[in-house]
Amino acid sequence: MVVATNNSFPGSNGTIFSPNDIIDLERGDPLVFEAYWKKMSEACTVVIKGWELMSYLSDDKNVCWYMLPEFGEAVRRLHHVVGNAVTQERHIVVGTGATQLFQAALYALSSDSQAPQPINVVAAAPYYSEYPSEIEILRSKLYHWAGDAALYDKNEPYIEAVTSPNNPDGVIRGPVVKSEAEGKQVYDFAYYWPHYTPITHKADHDIMNFTFSKCTGHAGSRIGWAIVKDIEIAKKMTRYVHMNSIGVSKESQIRAAKIIGVICDGYQNFGSMESELFFEYSKRIMRERWEKLLKVIEQSKVFTVAKFPTSYCKFTNESSESNPGFLWLKCDESIEDCTSYLMAKLKVRARGGQRFGASPKYARLSAIGTEDEFNELLKRLSNAD
Ligand code: PMP
Repeated sequence: MVVATNNSFPGSNGTIFSPNDIIDLERGDPLVFEAYWKKMSEACTVVIKGWELMSYLSDDKNVCWYMLPEFGEAVRRLHHVVGNAVTQERHIVVGTGATQLFQAALYALSSDSQAPQPINVVAAAPYYSEYPSEIEILRSKLYHWAGDAALYDKNEPYIEAVTSPNNPDGVIRGPVVKSEAEGKQVYDFAYYWPHYTPITHKADHDIMNFTFSKCTGHAGSRIGWAIVKDIEIAKKMTRYVHMNSIGVSKESQIRAAKIIGVICDGYQNFGSMESELFFEYSKRIMRERWEKLLKVIEQSKVFTVAKFPTSYCKFTNESSESNPGFLWLKCDESIEDCTSYLMAKLKVRARGGQRFGASPKYARLSAIGTEDEFNELLKRLSNAD
């Protein structure tokens, strides 16, 4: 038997930082829940034999023919347990992360367009920094990046990416385009999970993308899923994945289905859960991190963050604030470039506001990295002057 060796990367747990070490919080690598999955190691182990999962095909009766039935069932069960999205009479399309599904959705919404020009794709600033590159990488004739949705005033068809809670600032969002032209939305619900935000309603839109990366933290599995109302759109998204990667790794689908099953068993009182339930744990950790962050920032003369409103969470049955995956820091007026300041003064690598279509006075820092990185960040932020 081959056993996966644990990855050792800068900032992995057990790292001791010296003051001159750079801490890299530029990316959103979600290792925050690693300790939980270590505790659940046995229950989540999947054994795959050499002859298993060899076919391209999984289920020729499903629109998404490469999706393992157990994966689709696990996704529906998870949304049923959490209550964050409608799945009844909806199609599930699995993708190699929400990244692939975003592009699949753009293809599906633009491929039949009769318009002479590529369809405009917009997102309200500050928007997820990867959208412009994902949209522009192939310089497609079908669609192109058209910038900030709040500024869109063309009388031409458009697609709006609605990210809620938003990356980078954690804000709950709806569509913002005011144009009279025909518009379609792709909802990016990467962070619509109880540890990041109160679950206020069951989302129900034409295309809703979710990712395993930010739900459980298993970004390395590269699993995302779309919940799609219209069968023709689901077929086109499936076609895109077919042309792009002929499906999605079955090893990854099996592992994701297993882990999601363990989470749901805990809530539905099947297995023997000696550990804390996943969303209880994940919410507690995120809450604790944010309490510490807000305390440090309250005392800071340099940094501010926006306050989050409190909402009632139907999943936890309590009112709470958001605990976003990222810290969207604003630097003091006297500092032109927050990212350069963070690097020069604190040796902290952040992603600059401009990447999100915002001012360089803002910088985004990951709040979902390892505990060591996070504790070092707290120390450095509290020393800033
Ligand atoms: N959308 C948003 C808003 C994200 O933050 C991310 C991950 N950083 C993604 C999509 C992509 O997720 P995945 O790992 O599933 O490709």
